[in-house]
Amino acid sequence: MTQRDVLIIGGGIFGSAIAWALGRRGLGKRVLILEREQPASGATSRAAALVTMARDDPSLMALAGETFRAMAVLEGEYGEGIGRRTVGALHVVPTSDGDALKARVQHCASYGIASQWVDKPEALARAPWLAPQSFDLAAFYPDDCFVDPYLLSSAYLRTALQMGAQLRLDSNVLTIMRHAGGVTGVKLTDGTLLPASIVINAAGTWANLLSVGLGLPLPMAPVRSQYWITEPAPIFPRDGAIVLMPEIRAYARPEVGALLFGVREQQPAVVDPRQLPRDLAGFVFDSDDADGWKNLAEGAATLAPYFPALNTLGMAHYITGPSTYTPDGQLIIGASRAFAGLFVATGCNGSGITFSGGVGRLVAELVCGEPAFVTPEVFDPERYGDFDPYAMAFLKSCAAARAQKSAG
Ligand SMILES: Cc1cc2nc3c(=O)[nH]c(=O)nc-3n(C[C@H](O)[C@H](O)[C@H](O)COP(=O)(O)OP(=O)(O)OC[C@H]3O[C@@H](n4cnc5c(N)ncnc54)[C@H](O)[C@@H]3O)c2cc1C
Repeated sequence: MTQRDVLIIGGGIFGSAIAWALGRRGLGKRVLILEREQPASGATSRAAALVTMARDDPSLMALAGETFRAMAVLEGEYGEGIGRRTVGALHVVPTSDGDALKARVQHCASYGIASQWVDKPEALARAPWLAPQSFDLAAFYPDDCFVDPYLLSSAYLRTALQMGAQLRLDSNVLTIMRHAGGVTGVKLTDGTLLPASIVINAAGTWANLLSVGLGLPLPMAPVRSQYWITEPAPIFPRDGAIVLMPEIRAYARPEVGALLFGVREQQPAVVDPRQLPRDLAGFVFDSDDADGWKNLAEGAATLAPYFPALNTLGMAHYITGPSTYTPDGQLIIGASRAFAGLFVATGCNGSGITFSGGVGRLVAELVCGEPAFVTPEVFDPERYGDFDPYAMAFLKSCAAARAQKSAG
């Protein structure tokens, strides 16, 4: 066994969190992270970086819970700054959606997730930009937060390096090498061969480009995620709450005196991953709507009743990037059945910052052969069997999953 026999492809938040979790198990000196651009330069640095607990699926709540534990360790034990702002998350709904919100609050409470009902004046004090008549019920999750995604990803990475992992930049993986049912390492585009008995594909939205050639299509596609940041205004307190509006699948959070918000598109733009450049700067998902203005106009019709100032405020920033969506909304985490030593961690469905700690832990457990802390079967990379991940119908099914996703 060579010293660096665990290769992680991708230095985004998944690859970094996996390296961290392996380091915490004493395997740091075996880990080499391969990154062709800069760490966290892919989807990670573009995230709105809400980290929220409430989910219908208990496995996803367990992954998110693990991120909260990881953040506490990074901040407490390692003194890492991650830009965490624990402002809490308000879920606001009209009476027509009240039963659904009550059911979710009860469901989350049964998993130990703290929340409280707040009256309208308190909700408006936490989010003065909300129209009072737009909601009737408000639940508040006080522990929810947002972070700086670049800092959190860098904190996982930096501490993994302290625990012995190595980072190799300018390392563009061309293929994952295998022999007789097991992986043997990777080949870089410059011809370098790196032998290894374990290869972890954490290449984000590019993961299929390495997986399809092995006959292991991953059920995911790059779908446009996007949000806008308004100009600053006094109605946006810096310590205001995150607001989730499930009825219209929209979210918002404070951003230094302004408001950052996203609203789910009816038909999200999706691309064939083979068309995605390795450097995302300036990449246009949809030439008919390069700056997302059409989507914003479409979303404004539903958002303005909650957020009337939307009609008069200027927009200071538009941020977009690819998230990897899967048709069933589940992540893709697990071991290959065909090739011993091959693991994959991707399919974030727009919530990879929230799930990063759990993804790191689960992959580390699978690599080490430990009992998994969540049932890994739901994340099985091979759950769709053999199919064409580049077929237009399949790409559209991934975009539809984003359109259906609830906020947060
Ligand atoms: C606009 C937007 C808003 C978002 N908001 C949120 C949010 O509020 N909350 C939340 O939890 N999540 C959010 N997300 C999702 C989150 O950003 C992603 O889930 C997460 O960053 C995925 O991390 P990753 O490591 O899988 O991918 P990436 O960060 O893309 O990392 C993959 C890395 O692999 C490298 N790589 C790829 N191929 C190769 C190769 N062949 N050789 C070497 N290196 C390679 C890339 O260069 C890249 O650095 C948002 C995403 C976007 C785009």
